[in-house]
Amino acid sequence: MNKALRKTVIAGNWKMNKTPSEAAALIEEIKPLVKGADCEVVVCVPFVDLHVAIEAVKESNIKVGAQNCHFERSGAFTGEISPVMLKEMGVEYVIIGHSERRTYFGETDVTVNKRTLAALNEGLKVILCVGEYLEQREQGITEELVAMQTKIALQNVTEEQLKNVIIAYEPVWAIGTGKTATAEQANEVNGIIRATIEKLYGKAAADGITIQYGGSMNAANATELLAQPHVDGGLIGGASLKAQDFAAIVKAASV
Ligand code: PEP
Repeated sequence: MNKALRKTVIAGNWKMNKTPSEAAALIEEIKPLVKGADCEVVVCVPFVDLHVAIEAVKESNIKVGAQNCHFERSGAFTGEISPVMLKEMGVEYVIIGHSERRTYFGETDVTVNKRTLAALNEGLKVILCVGEYLEQREQGITEELVAMQTKIALQNVTEEQLKNVIIAYEPVWAIGTGKTATAEQANEVNGIIRATIEKLYGKAAADGITIQYGGSMNAANATELLAQPHVDGGLIGGASLKAQDFAAIVKAASV
């Protein structure tokens, strides 16, 4: 296990926050604060903000991501956005399988797999989210559950395509609740995900894949979480909406 073999990625998930003008302003605020960061910095913005975000990050080290995409290229899917559309705009990353999509919008492991494949086939980088509900943790099934979510999401994903996949372990009970997993809990589950990748793709792939932690990560707890051997970055919700807080997490990841 060697952290130097993989990229540290700090990604903000803005969720359904910020209008286009607010998005442009927030990126302008973040830009100077993360300049020269020694990690990948990504902002995953609402669909309607993508255009201004892509313009705003030009000549900076910030990358732009979307928060979901459909699995078909085009067709009668009212309200959906395809990976082809994202790619043409210049979007680089897309979050797939966030627990809010699974909980509120009927996303399943099977549709997560379909969206993952479609995004990868279009050349997008995928931030694939997995994680357990509190009840599942209390039932003692976290290990089996995240391994299963990971396996199903990656079905038919080639070893080459896996290089464009980041996995975000996000315990649902820690998202937006202010309850963070302990550094040990985050490291343990990230290690289980890495072991799952090793079983599926071998040691080199497991050593090389970036596995983030997400769930109430903030400026105060980022250093400890990011110091864990299996934690290669963070997917940040609430704290990514404040330039100073997001930049502090980027700084913690850059040491
Ligand atoms: C998220 O939405 O991916 C997330 C981790 O949110 P928060 O940081 O607000 O818990």
